[in-house]
Amino acid sequence: MTVQCCSCQKVRSPQGWRKPIKAELITKQVTHTYCPSCYSEARLFIEKWKKDNA
Ligand SMILES: [Zn+2]
Repeated sequence: MTVQCCSCQKVRSPQGWRKPIKAELITKQVTHTYCPSCYSEARLFIEKWKKDNA
């Protein structure tokens, strides 16, 4: 199972997050999540959204 960031499209590997190879996205099952850097960005976005919509 390939784990891919839904924001920057990087994939998780034992060596860390890297750019995906096209073939592995076609041949393997892919699940989407946030990589650590996009996760912190998304969290900031949610916090801002909460403030704006409070
Ligand atoms: Zn990412």
